[in-house]
Amino acid sequence: MNEQLKILVGLQEIDSSILLVIDQVDALPDKLEQYKAPLKEANDFLEKAKTQAELLNKKKKDKDMQLDEFQDKIEKLKSRSADVKTNKEYEANLKEIESFEKNRDRIEDEILTMMEEIETFSNISKEEEVKVKEAEKAFKQEEEKQEEEKKKLFSEVEAIKAKRAEYVEKLDKKTYDRYMQLLKKLGGLAVVETRNEICLGCNTNIPPQLCSDIKKGDDVHTCFYCNRLLFYKDDTPANSPQEAAPASNDREETE
Ligand SMILES: [Zn+2]
Repeated sequence: MNEQLKILVGLQEIDSSILLVIDQVDALPDKLEQYKAPLKEANDFLEKAKTQAELLNKKKKDKDMQLDEFQDKIEKLKSRSADVKTNKEYEANLKEIESFEKNRDRIEDEILTMMEEIETFSNISKEEEVKVKEAEKAFKQEEEKQEEEKKKLFSEVEAIKAKRAEYVEKLDKKTYDRYMQLLKKLGGLAVVETRNEICLGCNTNIPPQLCSDIKKGDDVHTCFYCNRLLFYKDDTPANSPQEAAPASNDREETE
């Protein structure tokens, strides 16, 4: 295979693996996002339970005040009963007391129900607080894991980039520029294999003559449809720079 083409094939492999690592880095925030949902859910529940408990406490305070008022009235009526002169007055007073007592008892019942509800909501709050803490912990752990993962991936990219530089050094500037142009234009895929007379970059048929030229591998050919640089893969893979690197830019007749 033409030495420049050989290097291009290797360079494409390197760039594809860099893109793969970048994809992995890009996917990390989405993964972290999955841990945000349960945290938000637990927080929302906690807020709701707290709000309900506050609301009930406020209502209960109003009822407490009402209860005090009724109690006051009952006391006053009771003390007045000593001063009544007639039976009729006495009975009327008694009726009034009974009526206030009925209301007082009703409010007391309401207050008891409220207290039970307040306790329920405060228990829910406690449970949700535990859930929030657990969700926070899981989120933090994932965040830390991702930081480690990112570090690992970045150092992987650095290593690949160093290898890439070795390849680039061995390419003609013109060929490299052309490669980079195609890489940017064609979604990160500039050098593709031809198989069964088809360009694997765009799945278009390649004319037989061009196909046999590609197989010879004497020159760098392009797909007439997608413009990608084409190569024919034979059985012996030769992608490491040592094997691919030309001693000079002289064309060799081997392979
Ligand atoms: Zn093509």
